[in-house]
Amino acid sequence: MIRENIEIVEKNIEEACKRAGRDRSEVTLIAVSKTKPVSDIRQAMECGMRVFGENKVQEIREKTEEIKEDVSFHMIGHLQANKVKYLPGKVVMIHSVDNVKLAQEIEKQFAKNNMTIDVLIEVNMAGEDSKFGLSPSDAPAFVKEISALPHLNIRGLMTIAPYTEDPESNRIYFRGLKKLLEDINAMGIDGVHMDTLSMGMTGDYEVAIEEGATFVRVGTGIFGERNYVI
Ligand SMILES: *Cc1c(COP(=O)(O)O)cnc(C)c1O
Repeated sequence: MIRENIEIVEKNIEEACKRAGRDRSEVTLIAVSKTKPVSDIRQAMECGMRVFGENKVQEIREKTEEIKEDVSFHMIGHLQANKVKYLPGKVVMIHSVDNVKLAQEIEKQFAKNNMTIDVLIEVNMAGEDSKFGLSPSDAPAFVKEISALPHLNIRGLMTIAPYTEDPESNRIYFRGLKKLLEDINAMGIDGVHMDTLSMGMTGDYEVAIEEGATFVRVGTGIFGERNYVI
């Protein structure tokens, strides 16, 4: 099932790229493996998947203990500052930076390990109470504030759009995130040249690609329904 699912998602990504006049190589598919066993990750690896998304630090620790192959993990979920110390060497990107205390702790822990880490700023485009992330209006000042932290490489923005049956209704949020990235880049903040937009999940990744996503995060569409909601 995982193989067939990946083939379908791949085909959809290719077609969305074509519609948008984009090259397939501009979009990286992140296979969101949260709650799924290592055996599922291995099946996806056999189908060529190399980038996996997880949202729990403990799960990242366990899975990276077992999987020593050349694949990478991204932390895509809400992150508490007291767990950051477990992440150096385990993940190549953190998608969910949304407060100064967290950014400072990431700085401290990665500096301690002589590592830099790619980060994305999470933005709550639709202003949903249930979601983490900065409001779009707060994002520019936030980027400026954390831009001086030397072990964080601010690569771009991430958003989780509202859950919907109609992906078209999320187009404005994806378009807005891209515009926000361009606006922040235009501020000319020292050392900030963002090139990454993490947006689009199983229900709406094709629309996100049409609007400029460079990472899409697909869980259910690859691994099937999760047994419990996270
Ligand atoms: C779970 C999750 C996804 C994947 O969701 P699906 O709808 O299963 O594709 C993407 N991004 C984040 C941040 C998630 O937590």
